[in-house]
Amino acid sequence: MAGCISAKLLAAQGLQVILVDRFKQSPPVFRAEKLEKDQIDLLAKFDLLSQRRPLADPLGVNVNYNDGRITEHHDVEQYGIRYHDTINQLRQEVSKLVEYRVAKVESIVEDPEHPQSQIIHLADAEPLHAPLVIVASGYRSGLLKKRGVQYREDKDLASISYGFDIERPDQSPFDSNAYGYFLKPDKNGIDYITIFRIGETMRANVFTQLKSSDPRVKELKNNTYPALQKYFPDLEKLTDPFQLISKVEMFATYFYQMRTPELNGVVAIGDAYQSVSPTTGTGLSKVLNDVDVLCNVFVPRWFQNQSFDHKEINEFYQFAQKKEADTHSSRSWKWYADPSSRSGLVYRLKQNKGVQWLVQKLKLRKLRH
Ligand SMILES: Cc1cc2nc3c(=O)[nH]c(=O)nc-3n(C[C@H](O)[C@H](O)[C@H](O)COP(=O)(O)OP(=O)(O)OC[C@H]3O[C@@H](n4cnc5c(N)ncnc54)[C@H](O)[C@@H]3O)c2cc1C
Repeated sequence: MAGCISAKLLAAQGLQVILVDRFKQSPPVFRAEKLEKDQIDLLAKFDLLSQRRPLADPLGVNVNYNDGRITEHHDVEQYGIRYHDTINQLRQEVSKLVEYRVAKVESIVEDPEHPQSQIIHLADAEPLHAPLVIVASGYRSGLLKKRGVQYREDKDLASISYGFDIERPDQSPFDSNAYGYFLKPDKNGIDYITIFRIGETMRANVFTQLKSSDPRVKELKNNTYPALQKYFPDLEKLTDPFQLISKVEMFATYFYQMRTPELNGVVAIGDAYQSVSPTTGTGLSKVLNDVDVLCNVFVPRWFQNQSFDHKEINEFYQFAQKKEADTHSSRSWKWYADPSSRSGLVYRLKQNKGVQWLVQKLKLRKLRH
């Protein structure tokens, strides 16, 4: 997502861009399957919302079950998507504008003969040369480790997610396009189940902060429906009984963030820079925000100054809009992991509408004086 969209935006600015990926077509992968409002707004800003295929209708009504009561929300603008469908559609569009190479990147090294140039070594292909390389290689790709990049890691901040398709036993339609069942935030580790329509299929995601050694991890994977009935006791009240009609996909993540590297001519974005807990629904926000800041603020500046020095590249990582999105994502993760923690409380305070209003008022007062 980060690489494709960056390529599109930079080609539109008249830059010569080469997009490199291991795969011609993205294979089915378990990643973001629902677009949130802020993500829809950024896709629309990049003129890409209409290129999402299949073009699902907004989910519309989302029936939420929270703290033991049902709260209904109307007009929720969210879309159910299969990640690889979106990526393949984007790639098709982007490859009309930029050269698309299918190759595995093995390493990115500075050209010893040309200080403003990077050499991108590819498996089974001639190397590429460029003044700027955007690394958008996703979760734990390790591509920049060879270049000496280090990561701040917290393996205790971990998260396990499950995804599967469901239907009613008589195949009749569900009452709503989307359901959410949120458990009381505590250290229990199971956060919520979200059920939503992708095209004709109803998809379910279960998000947890369970550690891999927790016996519930296998229970949710191998004995899914009874485990759901156990951990979400009112689920059938919300959705009526259903059955699983696909295998249960499972994906585990832990927290890392790249330490600000001293790299000339190389910049990392999306999951390649910082990982995300799927529970928080902030992965694509982070990706799209990185793309926005990089392509609309920094890349034009670097090319105008013809300078790709690490000091200038590092200004991207320190840019307020970027840092805010990264911090929001990691704080939200910490809050789900431990709602009583200090960062959890800070996160909750920041989310509180009353506090937001007060901060805004204080900022305005400061401006007036
Ligand atoms: C289970 C799960 C559910 C999620 N749900 C949500 C959600 O509901 N909402 C949300 O906002 N976020 C969600 N996320 C997070 C979101 O999916 C990610 O943040 C986002 O997809 C990351 O995009 P990216 O472009 O950084 O990386 P990716 O989409 O992973 O792209 C990386 C690309 O790099 C290529 N690549 C890697 N190494 C090489 C190499 N050496 N050479 C060539 N190519 C290479 C890969 O082939 C791939 O195409 C979820 C994540 C997971 C795991």
